[in-house]
Amino acid sequence: MKRITIPLLALILAGCTHEKNALIEQGNYKIDRGNYTVDTRITSANANERIRFLVMHYTAVDDKESLRLLTQPDGGASAHYLIPSVPAVDGGKPVVLGLVPERRRAWHAGVSHWAQRDNLNDTSIGIEIVNLGFTEGLTGKHWYPYTPEQIELVARMAQDIATRYGISPDNILAHSDIAPQRKHDPGPLFPWEMLAKRGIGAWPSKEAVVKYLAGRDPAATASVKVIQTALAKYGYQIPQNGELDEETRKVLIAFQMHFRPSDISGSADAQTEALALALVEKYRQ
Ligand SMILES: [Zn+2]
Repeated sequence: MKRITIPLLALILAGCTHEKNALIEQGNYKIDRGNYTVDTRITSANANERIRFLVMHYTAVDDKESLRLLTQPDGGASAHYLIPSVPAVDGGKPVVLGLVPERRRAWHAGVSHWAQRDNLNDTSIGIEIVNLGFTEGLTGKHWYPYTPEQIELVARMAQDIATRYGISPDNILAHSDIAPQRKHDPGPLFPWEMLAKRGIGAWPSKEAVVKYLAGRDPAATASVKVIQTALAKYGYQIPQNGELDEETRKVLIAFQMHFRPSDISGSADAQTEALALALVEKYRQ
């Protein structure tokens, strides 16, 4: 029995994410991979994290259905994390369901684009929040609110994940930011401004917005071309034709759900232009 103890320990260490640190503590720089060995004495500093984005979603269905859709083995959707409608509490801490390990690629973003990148599943962590989304009524869309417990858990997770991977504020995104033609989640009731006050995600400076508004009525009609140029520079996939066509309008709605949730009509107004220019000034100069 004693003869299998050491290889067994090596195997356990090799399977651990912090395998190298564990091995160094053991005074051993070799990783045994069964029929070959890795020498880790010399490592390169020329590397960065593969994970660059954090993407927020709502599931649009209840707890039971969310869990079923995100875990059924049909090659459909998945996400790294699922926040239930009422997160459990364990030892005083809220509990999130970890459905896919962070080092694996979850299928939450679909066809997507941000800045210079496509297919964000490759480079992101996805958080799904149980929320019914919206119902269509006579007065337009009625959105379902998030609970304070869900938002507190989102905030703690976003802070932790962004810190661990060095994700920049402008890369903490809504699904609707990266797929504005298809997606509305996490919707206008997701509290981006409140999270930004806690240091999570991007937000334009008030002074810059006032500067770019330049005394205009916030609802005044603005140049579609200026808005398209600014939003493309900030990261959105948006036409550059100077026309408020259907595709452009959907991007404006996505942008407004994130940065101006009080009016998500998709209009090309002065406030939208000022917000876009202020974000470019802060994050793209
Ligand atoms: Zn989504």
